[in-house]
Amino acid sequence: MNTLDPWGAVKIDNYTKLFDEFGISRFDELLGNIKNPHRYMRRHIIFGHRSYDSVLDAMITGKPFAAMSGFMPSGKAHLGHKMVMEMIIWHQQQGGDAFLAIADMEAHAVRNISWEKCRELGINEYILSAIALGLEPGAHVYFQSKSDHVRDLAFELGVKANFSELSAIYGFSGETNIAHMVSALTQSADILQPQLKEFRGPKPVVIPVGADQDPHIRLTRGLAYKVNMFIIEKRPGNDKSYISVRGKAAPKEALKEIAKRTGGKLYEEHVDVFALSSEEVEAVVRDVELRYGGYAFMPPASTYHKFMTGLQGGKMSSSVQESFIALSDKPEEGAKKVMRAITGGRVTIEEQKEKGGEPEKCSVYELLLFHLIEDDSELMEVYKDCVGGTRVCGVCKKHAAERMKEFLKGHQEKMELARERLGEFGI
Ligand code: SF4
Repeated sequence: MNTLDPWGAVKIDNYTKLFDEFGISRFDELLGNIKNPHRYMRRHIIFGHRSYDSVLDAMITGKPFAAMSGFMPSGKAHLGHKMVMEMIIWHQQQGGDAFLAIADMEAHAVRNISWEKCRELGINEYILSAIALGLEPGAHVYFQSKSDHVRDLAFELGVKANFSELSAIYGFSGETNIAHMVSALTQSADILQPQLKEFRGPKPVVIPVGADQDPHIRLTRGLAYKVNMFIIEKRPGNDKSYISVRGKAAPKEALKEIAKRTGGKLYEEHVDVFALSSEEVEAVVRDVELRYGGYAFMPPASTYHKFMTGLQGGKMSSSVQESFIALSDKPEEGAKKVMRAITGGRVTIEEQKEKGGEPEKCSVYELLLFHLIEDDSELMEVYKDCVGGTRVCGVCKKHAAERMKEFLKGHQEKMELARERLGEFGI
């Protein structure tokens, strides 16, 4: 018999391309260093990352770090949004600063949603849900259109971004409205905002995203690099590699100071440092850049999670009501959707008893795996019973539907309580 793999339902096959083609690292390699991994981490639902080691290192050593995400208020918040919210909350619980943006500028520019509607959906669907799931005061919850920092930074980033680059990522054409382009840069500004001096300066920041969001992350990492005053590069030397710090828009005095503090050799436009580690040089450069009015951004980190499939198979789509469960669905309605969901059951009960079910093809199992069962050993039991043919889909679905009903009921009660607490979040 093959080794039982209760996490096997989240297939990685479709994602391996991301590792190879885009240089996303495997999350598994870091898992052993995380003290209380979230169930998305333990269950390999989070499968990849960029620079998450910097966040982890800050978490372990007690240095500042942050987690941020944005939500476009264009419809109902659903289980996919819940995944991102849970990750922001988990990082807040680990001591990080939490940032939650309502991307109203994007919703207005791209979906033509009125500002009033953006505000209503932003609060009722997203902010209340995040608080209900455990977001605590101290989190920076904001609407893009109301944040001077974000709008100013988006403008500044716009100086370094050009039309071709944005079109390659977002598919812009001559017909695309300008506000849409601005909203793409605003997203990058959201991602970099936690590193502004108003929020305690440069730090590792993680953006938990679905695998399709990597282009935004790549764009923002590129912009962070471009707006910084210095480029730090490791160079191969004759006997030992060294670090070169090149000033782009840096004043000569700043470069001189870097040379002095690192003991490096000063040239016209760069300093070569031989005796310090990359981390030591980066720390000096960051400090000098900040004093000379630069940003000194660290490249934002990201984690990538797998998608849930739609309840009817195929992709989960917000335009197909039956394919997803919204956090504001009536509990009975949510339960009904579970009862109508596609399972990995066999055609007949006899066949199921003989061959066992196929949890890796089952959207009900996916609900249990992603959302409804916290205890790994309990999930393992479900998995074993399913593949062993002792669990039948009718009973299993009922069990999942009941859990979904309970979750939605409890969540919506907490959302109502959260309404009273909006003031604590500056809303
Ligand atoms: S028994 Fe449960 S987990 Fe297994 S295929 Fe049926 S519904 Fe899915």
